[in-house]
Order: sequence, then C-alpha cells, then structure tokens
Amino acid sequence: MPGDTMTLPSQPAPDGGAPHVQKRIPLYRIYLSLISLSGMALFLGGLWRFPDYADKHLFLLLCGLAAVSALTTISVQVEKSGITYSVGPAVSLAVIPHWGLLAATLVSTGFNGCLWLLKPKDQATWKKSGAQLAFNNGMHALAFVAGGALLLWGRRVLGADTLLGQTAPWLLATIVYNEVNLWLLIGVLRLQHGPEIRPWAIWKEERWSSQISILVLALGGGVLSFAIQNYDAVGIIIFYLPIGLSAYAFRLYVRQMQEHMLNLENIVAERTRDLAALNRQKDSYLALLTHDMMTPITSIQLCAEELKSHPAAAVEDPFLTNILLQSQKTLLNIVHNILDIEKLQAGGSLSAAKVNCDLADVLDHVVSLVRLDADVRGLHLTHTVSSRPLWLYADRQQLERILLNLLSNAVKYTPAGGSVQVRAQLIGQYVEVEVRDTGYGIPPQEIPHIFERFHRVERLQTKAPGAGLGLAITKALIEEHHGDIAVQSEEGQGAVFVVRLPRVENHETIPAA
Ligand code: ADP
Repeated sequence: MPGDTMTLPSQPAPDGGAPHVQKRIPLYRIYLSLISLSGMALFLGGLWRFPDYADKHLFLLLCGLAAVSALTTISVQVEKSGITYSVGPAVSLAVIPHWGLLAATLVSTGFNGCLWLLKPKDQATWKKSGAQLAFNNGMHALAFVAGGALLLWGRRVLGADTLLGQTAPWLLATIVYNEVNLWLLIGVLRLQHGPEIRPWAIWKEERWSSQISILVLALGGGVLSFAIQNYDAVGIIIFYLPIGLSAYAFRLYVRQMQEHMLNLENIVAERTRDLAALNRQKDSYLALLTHDMMTPITSIQLCAEELKSHPAAAVEDPFLTNILLQSQKTLLNIVHNILDIEKLQAGGSLSAAKVNCDLADVLDHVVSLVRLDADVRGLHLTHTVSSRPLWLYADRQQLERILLNLLSNAVKYTPAGGSVQVRAQLIGQYVEVEVRDTGYGIPPQEIPHIFERFHRVERLQTKAPGAGLGLAITKALIEEHHGDIAVQSEEGQGAVFVVRLPRVENHETIPAA
C-alpha cells in the first residue's frame, strides 16, 4: 500500500510503580511535545502560504482525496507499534513538486484529522487521541519535510523531465520519509518503555512492510504528481481511483484476515475450556473410581490379615471367604466395565455368540442373585413372568448383565422398606421387561444424561457406590440386541426402566436384524 504511517501505542508508559518525591516531566513527554510543536509550526506555515497557492481548487481537491484516503486506511499490529497503511501520505507527497514542502503538511494534517475522527471511541479516549493526533501530525510533517526536500533536490539535479528524474527522487524521498517516520516513532517507544524496546528488532520486523510501503508510496505519489502537472480535476480523480481502490481492497482483505484470526483464537479458547472441563471430569472420575475400588481392596486386605493370623478362620468362618470372593467380584466388575467402555468407544461390540435363550429363565437366575442383597437391605423384591418361555436371540451372558445392572441399580437406589418389582411379558413382537422401584428416583433434568458414560446423579452419589458405567453399557448391549430402553421417574417416587427386545416366535427361528 502506498504510504506507511505509525501510531502511538495505546498503553501509556508505566511509571515503574515507585512514588516520585519530586515531580519531573518524563523525557518522552518533552520529546512528544517537541515533535507535536514542530508539526503545528509547519502546519501554520502551510496555512500562511495558502493564499499564494496557484490552482487552489486542485489543491483542495487533493485535500479531499487525502481525507477520503482515511476511509481506506488499515492498521496492522507490529511489536508494540501499529503500522498504518494508507494512500494519504502518497497524496501529501504528490503535492510537493507543485505547491512545495509546507503544502504536504497541510494535506497530511487534513488526512490525520479525518483518521482521528474515524477512530472508534472505544479504542482510545478522545483526550489520548488528541495527543496522538498532534504527535502523528508532527511526525508526518517532519518526515514529509525530510523526504520532500530530497525529492525537490533530486528533481533539480536529475531534471524533472528525465526518466531518472521522475523515478529515483520519488524512491529516495519515500525511503527517507518512511525511515524518519519509523525512527521518530521508535524514539518515543524507547523513551516510554525503556530497554525492553529493541529498535533494531522493530526495524527488522517492519522491514518487509516498509518495502511494500515504499514501492507503492513512490509509485502512487509519482503518478498523482504527474496527474497534477498534466491534467485537471477529473484527470486527477481518474489517476487517484485505482490507487485508492487498491488500498480499500487491501483494507477489506486485512479486516477479513483479522476477523478470521479472531475466530480461530475464539475456537482455540473454546477448545481449551472444553479440555479443562474434560480434565476436571477425568480427575473427579478417577477420584470416584479410586474410592469405589478402595472399599473392596480394604475388605480383601482385612480378610487376608485375619486369615494370616488365624488360618483356621477359613474353615470356621465362611463369612470371611464370602467377603473375600464378593470383594474380588466387585473389583473384577469395575475392571470389566472400564474395559468394555473402552471397547465400545473404539467402535467394538460386546456381545459374543448369540443363541436362542429364554429370558424368563435368565431373569429367574438374576433375581436369585440380587435377592440376598435386597433382603439384607430390607427391600421387598417380587418378579412376575406373564408366560414361559420368552425366547430371545441373544448373548446369554450379556442378557444376564443387562438385567443384573437394572436390578442391582433398583436395589442400590431404594432405601430400606421400599420395594422392587420386575415384570416380564410379551408385547407384540417384543419381550418387555419392566424394573420398577420405589426408591430415590431421578431428577427430571438428569434423565437425558443417565445413559452417558461416567454420569452419576450428584445427589445420589452418597447413597450407593458406582462408577456411572452400568447404564451406558446396558444401553449399548440392548442396542446390540436391536432393542431399546426407556426410563420414567419422579424424584422421591422411584424409577421405572422398561427394556424391549425383539422376540423369537419359534425358538428355531432367528429374528431379522
Ligand atoms: P452407577 O454405577 O453410578 O450406578 P449407572 O450407569 O448404573 O452407574 O447409573 C447411572 C446413574 O443413574 C446412577 O449413578 C444413579 O444416579 C442413576 N440411577 C440409575 N438407576 C437408578 C434408579 N433405579 N433409581 C435412581 N437413580 C438411578
């Protein structure tokens, strides 16, 4: 883009936090004031000379074009400074051969003023922008005077009509303009922030953009100056249009890139939050799992110690061995569940060989398994089967697991004195099993989540141990058998789980998948 202007950093310099006994004006403020005052003096000089200008209407048109250029301006952040691309400086430079050095400061003041007005209020306070405007003006004015003087000298020496005279001075002038601009800005940054500002690093960082800027500024300035000398207002506008439009296109492009980057940053932030949440979930799950595993491990350890000190207890006290076996079974169950969940996540299947089996028979067995537990807890457990046999095409072991998960949950989440009813019946093409309890029930907002792995109703966590895997596995197993599961519950009123599995009409036939 033609033109390259710098803006002050948005943050004022830190004071270092130390209280000052004596108030001294910081050096950078003196530096800022000197540059701002120089800009002001050059601007006033330009105004003073204005009445003598030839072709005032063309000059005012160029001021207008410089103002329009403010709309095509775009800023890119580099290190601690912002680099601004615009065609405004090209217009300022273009007026120098025709109206002189001070005219450039007039055009540039108009351009900077428009930029200042367009600057969104939330980016900086008006007060700060005012200081920024004065500094920018001064910095540009000094850079235009330095670059412009070289331009005029080059044209005088090389001749304004020769090819060399029409190109080399523009290139030299824009290089000088750009460097003066950059080093004046680096100066204020260094004075404000101290040694953390490394001038050469900023210069190097800015190098690539300077090259583009110098090329297009020289080209834009040269072309516009040619138009001023040879054409009228319409000609100048025609020459300006492609330069202004290309700057505007660049601005749109950079804006889109910035939006895209912001979008990417938001996505990264969101993913980081998700990961943190998953991490927390993993931590709490591990804590839960460790807690659940500790109970059977402690039982095994206590039984083992007892058996070590009284070997005869193995024969005398069958309760000890029962606890040992039960604890070992619980541990094995947890490990199996974790392995199965991993298998499901990897897209595997849990059911092995399916055969025709009688659900009524499997249910009898499962009820007998949980009956002892229900009795110990003081629960009334009943089970009814409408007709026998109830043929299903299933993996018998996994069918047992489905029923055991649902029944042991009903027993686990029902307080003493409550009841658990299991009913199996034929309904159309399905065998339906209903497990109904009068326990704690599930809050309505939790119902959609209870089949998710690791999900446990928070309020019920203290009521019974568990890893939140049983229902996830149960649902996956039911689906592997082409059935479905539904739940109805009211908090404090118990829960009803209903499983439907496709029946086999005649135990010789296999249902269509
Ligand atoms: P857990 O090992 O925690 O029991 P499950 O996957 O079997 O894991 O169940 C998930 C959650 O659903 C349980 O933690 C419990 O909060 C709730 N839940 C399951 N069955 C019942 C039930 N019959 N009554 C009340 N809540 C239940």
